[in-house]
Amino acid sequence: MMKSFLFLVASFVFTSPSVAQLTDREISDLKGGGVKPDNSPVYYLPFSKGSKFLLIQAYNSGMSHRNEISLDFKMKPGSKICAARVGIVSAVKEDSDAGGLNNEYLSQGNHIIITHSDGSTAMYWHLKKDGVLVNEGDTVEQGRHIGYSGNTGYSAFPHLHFQVYDKDGKNIATRFYTKKGIIYLRPGKWYKQIQ
Ligand SMILES: [Zn+2]
Repeated sequence: MMKSFLFLVASFVFTSPSVAQLTDREISDLKGGGVKPDNSPVYYLPFSKGSKFLLIQAYNSGMSHRNEISLDFKMKPGSKICAARVGIVSAVKEDSDAGGLNNEYLSQGNHIIITHSDGSTAMYWHLKKDGVLVNEGDTVEQGRHIGYSGNTGYSAFPHLHFQVYDKDGKNIATRFYTKKGIIYLRPGKWYKQIQ
């Protein structure tokens, strides 16, 4: 009994998730789709079960993500946004109705920020006006419906901008459950939430 308990503890210690710290080399591997298996936390796609969306921009790709590790899912306004990982809501904004490709809109993006148990944070951006269903301090389960997509803030078209920072404020890539298994996402592909 004791032995198996110790074994359990030991295997937890050796397999407990650590947040990915990506080097430039690893990011270039990511863009080529050639990433090695790792033990970082696995996220749900940030929308409702059964729905699927086109990933327009991914890590370090495209126009506005050149120096950024983030994901843009094209979505018609009002699409359901769900928590990608369990955590506590640390910030929300839902009072804006303004958006476009102009610097004046930079601070106008409605959003939800969720802090995870390892101190990392996920940002869900460009939500529609009054499109936030959670409050600061709420604990949200993975997959919980938390809001509705929109086109507020610095945004060229209706979409969800999803971005994760580790506890030190470093922008990081995350893995997701998909129909093709647990993977890092690539732009130009449709992804369906299956969890
Ligand atoms: Zn974006």
